[in-house]
Amino acid sequence: MTDVEKRQDRSPVPTDWTYAPAPESTSILTIEERYGLYIGGEWQKAKEHFTTISPRDESPLAEVAQASEADVHDAVAAARTAFKTWSKLPGAERSKYMFRIARILAERAREFAVLESLNGGKPIKESRDVDLPLAAAHFFYYAGWADKLEYAFPNRTPQPLGVCGQIIPWNFPMLMLAWKIAPALAAGNSVVLKPAETTPLTALLFCDVLRQAGLPAGVVNIVTGDGSTGAALVDSDVDKIAFTGSTQVGKAIQRRLAGTEKKLTLELGGKAANIVFDDCAIDQTVEGIVNGIYFNQGHVCCAGSRLFVQESIYEPVIAKLKQRMATLRIGDPLDKNTDVGAINSREQLTRIEELVEAGKEEGAEIYQPPCRLPEQGYWFAPTVFTNVAQSARIAQEEIFGPVLSVLTFRTPEEAVEKANNTPYGLSAGVWTEKGSRILWMAERLRAGVVWANTFNRFDPTSPFGGYKESGFGREGGLHGMEPYLTFDAAETFGG
Ligand code: NAD
Repeated sequence: MTDVEKRQDRSPVPTDWTYAPAPESTSILTIEERYGLYIGGEWQKAKEHFTTISPRDESPLAEVAQASEADVHDAVAAARTAFKTWSKLPGAERSKYMFRIARILAERAREFAVLESLNGGKPIKESRDVDLPLAAAHFFYYAGWADKLEYAFPNRTPQPLGVCGQIIPWNFPMLMLAWKIAPALAAGNSVVLKPAETTPLTALLFCDVLRQAGLPAGVVNIVTGDGSTGAALVDSDVDKIAFTGSTQVGKAIQRRLAGTEKKLTLELGGKAANIVFDDCAIDQTVEGIVNGIYFNQGHVCCAGSRLFVQESIYEPVIAKLKQRMATLRIGDPLDKNTDVGAINSREQLTRIEELVEAGKEEGAEIYQPPCRLPEQGYWFAPTVFTNVAQSARIAQEEIFGPVLSVLTFRTPEEAVEKANNTPYGLSAGVWTEKGSRILWMAERLRAGVVWANTFNRFDPTSPFGGYKESGFGREGGLHGMEPYLTFDAAETFGG
């Protein structure tokens, strides 16, 4: 036996890199058996309820109210009453409440993160490290503007709009709530917010934060329910609707509001191009590709779901991508090691499965790393399709799941043309070491956000929003504050 062989015998080399389970405890949570509607600072009883579950094992978590048209009417009336005093408060007073909300959210972040992962299925490391810190950061950021509106919009007279109806989706429940509520309150509006039907629990827990912060009654009202509750809010006596969700529902809301005085902003779907040039740093790029599509199981409006790779480096990029995919840990959202959690609902799982079948039928080549999916709950393995035609459904439609479609290009011009060949225009990514190329691409890509050598980065100071069927209006930054204000029609920027 050679020396080397002997040494190997004595010092065992680990071959199995499986992590021991590291589940986050749920003991920090108190979930009520049944929730009412948070209207005028009180819990109001509802007539109908539905069960909200955990997608990790389909276990029921609580009964949640299905708000009727009359309930929505009551919530809007409470917001209207509260608006009279809230809008008259000095900005510095409003910001005090908002700083309190931000601090309480930061203090209770663990509780919120556990509930977010339990009800929505996203990995705890994401809700803990991304969703909750960002939600608190939005309240901190907009709290800072509440008493500085005249500097934010110089030579104009910013005034609040009134009551804002806000409708949010299930993929980032707390973050979307913060995106909506923080700028509205800073601007002096009152709010009626409707969370998505599959993820209402963190918005309901947020009502306790409002109580702790001592926010005056009726400034924020939370009504739960399905699309019919959302539709009732759109039709109610609000001054503005802020909607984040699918393009289909966004279009229906726009039709509904056409010809009315109500203001509207729409944050809708996407089919982002993540574009990889042959001078990129391949290993970092592969991390960016993985983060771009498998973060939050691909339930991300700006997910990098179309990967464009320059032909000359196609093979090494795809080989490294497949290797990296094999190391992703899929499973319990509450396990701190989990990279890919549960699909949010059965309905969403069915949609992903249908589009993946369509991809296979249209001749694309599928790869899924070997992985064992839990038996209960809703799961889908990280998936990549190569050999994808531009016209294929998986290259055109938003899948909203952990499914990547890979296409190739030869020149920057071709990359731009293919990337823009979509009805959407929310985000894009460019991977290259050339700064000039990044700027050249960013000028030509029809996307609201273009990330360079990174992906899925968010910051409260930075506006986010779409072109074309991805919607209009911006959230984040001062751009995100403007749609919550009205200005004298005679005023223009710069005076
Ligand atoms: P969805 O449109 O089905 O639902 C969104 C919200 O609208 C839910 O609260 C729902 O109850 C409500 N709703 C449903 N029908 C309604 C109606 N007729 N009138 C009023 N409200 C109604 O979308 P979803 O499946 O919950 O979310 C996924 C979609 O959201 C994806 O398309 C995604 O791209 C998009 N999204 C966009 C952004 C963005 O910032 N652009 C962010 C997150 C998600």
